[in-house]
Amino acid sequence: MSADRAKTNYPICGEPISQNPRYPNAVCGRCAGLATDETGRRLGFANENPSGGFVAYYLDTDETHDSHMCFVNGIRCWADEARFGEIVIQVDNAAEREKTRDAEQAAWTATNQPRGRG
Ligand SMILES: [Zn+2]
Repeated sequence: MSADRAKTNYPICGEPISQNPRYPNAVCGRCAGLATDETGRRLGFANENPSGGFVAYYLDTDETHDSHMCFVNGIRCWADEARFGEIVIQVDNAAEREKTRDAEQAAWTATNQPRGRG
């Protein structure tokens, strides 16, 4: 009996995953289509050339967006070339880690500074 339980829902929208994902934090195709930069401009992703590579660009101007970072529903994600050359967008767990660390730091500060400021 295995204790592992595979994720069965996409991380952002909670849609059920229909196939076994190679990337457990990857968002679904619909969410990938909602990706924006940090200012809310819509982003598209493509292969840099026929053999692969990764490029992000603004959908409105076709201007290259020189970053892998994107946001889906305000959640920071990381877009990259997947194993078989397709583009995959995954929830950026570093953001989760930062959030956790901030919370821990806030708790620590609250504990160690009885008269905490604002
Ligand atoms: Zn989704």
